[in-house]
Amino acid sequence: MPELFIGGAWTAAADGAKREIRCPADGTLVATVDEGGPRDTSAAIAAARTAFDRGPWPTTPAAERGRLLLRVADLLERDKPSLARAESLDTGKRLVESEFDMTDVANCFRYFGNLTAAGGRDRIIDTGDPGVDSRVVHEPVGVCALITPWNYPLLQAAWKIAPALGAGNTFVLKPSELTPHTAIMLMRLLTEAGLPDGTANLVLGAGPTAGAPLSEDQRVDMVSFTGGLVTGRRVMAAAAPTVKKIALELGGKNPNVVFADADYEAAVDYALTAVFLHSGQVCSAGARLLVQDELHDSFVEDVVTRARVIPLGGPFDEHARTGPLISAKHRAKIEAYVAAGVAEGAVLRCGGARPDDPALSDGFYYLPTVLDECTPTMTVVRDESFGPVLTVERFRNEDEAVALANDTVYGLSAGVWSQDAGRAHRVASRLRAGTVWINDFQPYVPQAEWGGMKQSGFGRELGPAGLAEYQETKHVWRNLAPRPLGWFE
Ligand code: NAD
Repeated sequence: MPELFIGGAWTAAADGAKREIRCPADGTLVATVDEGGPRDTSAAIAAARTAFDRGPWPTTPAAERGRLLLRVADLLERDKPSLARAESLDTGKRLVESEFDMTDVANCFRYFGNLTAAGGRDRIIDTGDPGVDSRVVHEPVGVCALITPWNYPLLQAAWKIAPALGAGNTFVLKPSELTPHTAIMLMRLLTEAGLPDGTANLVLGAGPTAGAPLSEDQRVDMVSFTGGLVTGRRVMAAAAPTVKKIALELGGKNPNVVFADADYEAAVDYALTAVFLHSGQVCSAGARLLVQDELHDSFVEDVVTRARVIPLGGPFDEHARTGPLISAKHRAKIEAYVAAGVAEGAVLRCGGARPDDPALSDGFYYLPTVLDECTPTMTVVRDESFGPVLTVERFRNEDEAVALANDTVYGLSAGVWSQDAGRAHRVASRLRAGTVWINDFQPYVPQAEWGGMKQSGFGRELGPAGLAEYQETKHVWRNLAPRPLGWFE
């Protein structure tokens, strides 16, 4: 069966192109899928436009839209094993992590299903004039282009699709060309749940060919993009001539700040998961460890000792604790960052190489790496490497910690470790990041907004603001007893 989903029909790419999807853990062929291009994207936009302009989805009562999202959540739960397996084969991530992700995907649909059904954002305005009915209502934005990355393929898509549908929009999804399978499976579930044809459309293919037209096309009302900073800038520039609404979820170079009064064991443990989970391919990864001077030596020694023995392996290796990188190209980028760090004076404490286990030689593995004695000007400290690379900097006091933590163009997430609640909250309030964890790292819930400050982007996903992102606000004023004004008599 072809894999592009346009106007309710499964279609092959207009020019017949195909792409091989290979598992990053061992290079085996997962499948060959249709590779869309500009013509397919244009057809998908046309289908979404027609479905929006003619309905019925945008005018379906919110309660009914919410119920459909809840049905999708049930179907996601039902298909969790096959979805998780497909996600792991595309990304190379451990099956157990994909299973967590699929639970989060279902919870996201459930949250937005309930929020949509509850309604309640519209307001009646008291104008002080009994002859007027004035109300502020919230309507769908229109045709939404949803562009997503490869690290959490279905989860990132769900964060956009669930609120976009809840608000009554139609959409074209363009997932990463590297990880298309769970998006294909989701389209089937949306159809099974009863979503009208043309409401959900899927185009597979590369960013510059299948993705770029989405930002440029006048028929698209909004682009919600999750991906890298450089691509985000391109999307923003391409969307400017048509002044479309945009939301950008970009990268991070997230500080994890550990004060000397932190709970030591927990802080060491979380410093590892913060950056080495999913081999650091997490937008909110705690890739910059900032440690207070007096704690530095023992803390880094303990982190390094444990990083050295993290078992690597493929999705179905039960002993593995983290997996491969997404591609050879991505690994080469990380190798270059580590080399640059060492050349600029960082001290390589562990990793910095591919594993020598022959069983891993067909995958894109890279050892968990710790670079100590880093400084804020180093490239490896400034740029998002998006890999298993932890840089360590020292600080003396609160002010220095805050200054170092905020010394980045990004502002996605941050962690603070201290048993002094006053200090922890003081520092948290000074950190310029969309999410701050105190004595923790990485948890999120669908009820709380997610997004970045500074060049980590703008707009919010999840939470009530995540739904509002996909709504227009309209003021409707009705004069209940119109009389001539007589102004021009
Ligand atoms: P990427 O920017 O290379 O690609 C993201 C998506 O954009 C892909 O679907 C790609 O095909 C598409 N694309 C590429 N060029 C395009 C163009 N010119 N026009 C339209 N679409 C285009 O990012 P990636 O490598 O897939 O993902 C990793 C990045 O995503 C990291 O920087 C990471 O921090 C970020 N990310 C951010 C969040 C967040 O919540 N802020 C979450 C996950 C990932």
